[in-house]
Amino acid sequence: MHIAIEGCSHGELDTIYNSVLRLEQIHGFKVDLLLCCGDFQSVRNEQDLKCMACPVKYMDMRDFYKYYSGEKKAPMLTIFIGGNHEASNYLQEFPYGGWVAPNIYYLGYAGVVRFGGLRIGGLSGIYKGPDYLKGHYEKPPYTGESVRSVYHVRNLEVFRLKQLSGESDIFMSHDWPRGIYHHGDKEKLLKWKQHFRSEVKNNTLGSRPAEELLKKIRPKYWFSGHLHVKFPAVLRHKDENTHKAKVTKFLALDKCLPRRDFLQVIEVQNAGPLELSYDAEWLTILRLTNHLLSVGTRTVYMPGPGGSERYQFTPTKEEIDDTIQMMGCNLKVPLDFVPTAQSYESSQGKPKMEQVHMPDPLLNPQTIVAPKGVRGEPHMCWHYSQAPCARRAETLLNPGRYPSSFQRDEAPLGAPKAPLPALTHCETNVMSLTRSERRHSSTVSDIRQAAQSRGSLCRTGLNPPVLPRPTPTHGKVQAETHHTLGKCP
Ligand SMILES: [Zn+2]
Ligand SMILES: [Zn+2]
Repeated sequence: MHIAIEGCSHGELDTIYNSVLRLEQIHGFKVDLLLCCGDFQSVRNEQDLKCMACPVKYMDMRDFYKYYSGEKKAPMLTIFIGGNHEASNYLQEFPYGGWVAPNIYYLGYAGVVRFGGLRIGGLSGIYKGPDYLKGHYEKPPYTGESVRSVYHVRNLEVFRLKQLSGESDIFMSHDWPRGIYHHGDKEKLLKWKQHFRSEVKNNTLGSRPAEELLKKIRPKYWFSGHLHVKFPAVLRHKDENTHKAKVTKFLALDKCLPRRDFLQVIEVQNAGPLELSYDAEWLTILRLTNHLLSVGTRTVYMPGPGGSERYQFTPTKEEIDDTIQMMGCNLKVPLDFVPTAQSYESSQGKPKMEQVHMPDPLLNPQTIVAPKGVRGEPHMCWHYSQAPCARRAETLLNPGRYPSSFQRDEAPLGAPKAPLPALTHCETNVMSLTRSERRHSSTVSDIRQAAQSRGSLCRTGLNPPVLPRPTPTHGKVQAETHHTLGKCP
């Protein structure tokens, strides 16, 4: 299968998709998956734009709202991580990932999924030391400080990713793993980006946690954006036990601008169906580490040797089997996108940002708030289809800010807060499902069927959205090769 990789998207979805389609025409292949390494800018409207950390003069709607409203459709499955220029309020609706638009999937603060038999992981945000040990305390409306810290990487996600075992094929981080420049053509890089020289010399350029993850996870490919330059590198890992060399091919790409190297297509052998699934080990790690989640500002250390509590969460086979059972033996990611805000209308003209206010926090219907546990354990939020895994944790947003209906039954789903658009078909259906029905529902139509069979049809009377399935497989797979770069037209 063919995978296209984009550096920073910066909202230029039309250009990116057109460039991929042009590459398909030139080379006669079909791209099955697009990976975007952050600065995606999933901006739906002016309020989202207000929540993006950038000077007002750069606040531009770009293209995403058209894919959100249904005016346009992503031509291939698109998976992205967050960067440091994002509609942070919207991404915070999906701490554990979800569909931000039909066919466009966000991995969450950190996430691991499977597609075509490949294991694809990612870490959102950028590393900033002072915020690394804090909880996820930020929520809209943001302050001048929290609008920036909201996208800073936290140790919880890095700790969770370090528990992964087994092979990983692809990993994405927005900022580069620190030190990766020592494994490629450093001089050429410094010719392009002379201001990197002192940081490269002191080995301070890039993310320290991403460097640790690169050395621990050792994926076959690692892709990054952020520094707006193309830079390939090859890192050879030494295994002290087996003495077998393992290699990670690193590639950083530029942002989507004319005459920049912002896009790369690779061909890899797929070993499974071209549909998006959860990774059972990752879900188990999330389940086992719920209690480590903090939403406060105080320093939180992850557990380590010497204490009485468990500090290794690489799951056992039994723990993974338990997760699979909890998921009803169905790990397919349901196609359950529902809009939660009005999208921008281009006829409105350029947004007048000084008149726009930041929105209140909102929980997406794809994310669930589990109830307070019997022993007073805190709340948690979760992607609703992962709800059977949810046992205890706390919502990443302050539960006190939600309507009381959010916590009304055993495993309620969050609903948009008035005066947002009326609840849609899917939301109402989903909300009325029992836990067991949700467990056995993997698609919107499954959910609707279950709701219908219980006579709890949606009150809006609308049909559930027909969401595109991932592009089907095509032809035979070939040996792994690299293809030409696409340049912005
Ligand atoms: Zn960036
Ligand atoms: Zn960028």
